[in-house]
Amino acid sequence: KLHNQVQELKGNIRVFCRVRPLLSEEAKARMLFPDKMDHKEIVLSSSSESATGQERKDDWMFSFDRVFEPHCSQAEVFEEISQLAQSCTDGYNVCVFAYGQTGSGKSFTMEGGQTEATAGMIPRAVEQVFRVAEQLRSKGWEYKMEGQFLEIYNETINDLLGKGEFDKKKHEIKHDAKTGRTTVTDVNVVPLASSTQVRTLLALAQSRRTVAATLMNERSSRSHSVFTLRIHGENPLTGEVCEGSLNLVDLAGSERLEKSGAAGDKERLKETQNINRSLSALGDVIAALGEKGEGKNDKHIPYRNSKLTYLLQNSLSGNSKTLMVLNLSPLATHLNESLCSLRFATKVN
Ligand code: ADP
Repeated sequence: KLHNQVQELKGNIRVFCRVRPLLSEEAKARMLFPDKMDHKEIVLSSSSESATGQERKDDWMFSFDRVFEPHCSQAEVFEEISQLAQSCTDGYNVCVFAYGQTGSGKSFTMEGGQTEATAGMIPRAVEQVFRVAEQLRSKGWEYKMEGQFLEIYNETINDLLGKGEFDKKKHEIKHDAKTGRTTVTDVNVVPLASSTQVRTLLALAQSRRTVAATLMNERSSRSHSVFTLRIHGENPLTGEVCEGSLNLVDLAGSERLEKSGAAGDKERLKETQNINRSLSALGDVIAALGEKGEGKNDKHIPYRNSKLTYLLQNSLSGNSKTLMVLNLSPLATHLNESLCSLRFATKVN
């Protein structure tokens, strides 16, 4: 049972849950072998009655700010995200994360497919920001936007928009305490004049990840990808200035060691440990921020525990809005992983 929370949203952190539909090959397999237990599915019940919080066998209860069932379209999901995304034009730092095991729909949610209907949150959010910036021009606002697209693999930053030096250049994170700006050394920051340009960048980043993937199997699911749109607005009529950012993050697969076959393989073990460490660092930071939002102001926020949280430090603190989309597979065979994901989400919610 996953139900939509009715009470007031807590602070600036929201957690959504999205269950992907059964894929056609999964549905086919089920038709061929109807008796196999593997083909059982997670069933969502969105009622909030019997909210006892007790776990019975085969029946679990979790609360989210919003739940998207398998039939929900990209447009429906984006409807709930668009306000948050466009608030970067008001000077907010917005972070949207997709969390879940490999195959649960993170990339589909963030990047999506090639058609208009299947386009994911990144192209939609960027288009929305451009639309809003255009509307605000009539009030005197002039915006400049720039984008960068990074990958964090094994606690190393790679530039997905770089020119051929993938994995070679060393990139370091620098925080400017005065401006609150974070820069990464030696990465390509591309001025963005239109949302179509962003689609071209996404395609370029995708192709670079695919090239890297042939060198290392399934690499993209073992790394975090972080797309950042930075926006600088000035209003000569009023003298106002505003700086905001939109960070859209497709996290590495959250599956545990046994599933990935990592035990015994040293490289894979290191990879998995780095993923686990950075995902739990992210969970710790978001949980600490949530507590801070509840008034516990002395709470120490452990940004330094991973590259991901260190990179996003300024975007997760202060003037920030954070959304975690928890992606789930509908298959009963993935139930244990799904429960791990759900418990992670509960920690940050
Ligand atoms: P992940 O990024 O978590 O590894 P993917 O986004 O690659 O997972 O999703 C796995 C498969 O499921 C892909 O073939 C993807 O197209 C499909 N898929 C995921 N979510 C949906 C959805 N909401 N609707 C249709 N297909 C989906």
